[in-house]
Amino acid sequence: MSTTLNGFFSLYLIVFLALVVTAWLAFAWRQYRLKYNHRRHWVCPVCGKPIPIVTPTLRIHCRACGSVHETQHLKEK
Ligand SMILES: [Zn+2]
Repeated sequence: MSTTLNGFFSLYLIVFLALVVTAWLAFAWRQYRLKYNHRRHWVCPVCGKPIPIVTPTLRIHCRACGSVHETQHLKEK
């Protein structure tokens, strides 16, 4: 099996575009999750009070007890 320059370039182009599209989709999915989490209402597992989320973020700060939580580990109200 011999690899031509044309075949190598096509393979390089396909792999490069696949990486770019994968990174793009991962970024878009992360942004969607942040917006979706922003619309939900969370309950603090320490004090049990609802946590208002002002800005979309992965970590939120409970104003009642001061604890910091990641939104993926919190329960929805
Ligand atoms: Zn709390």
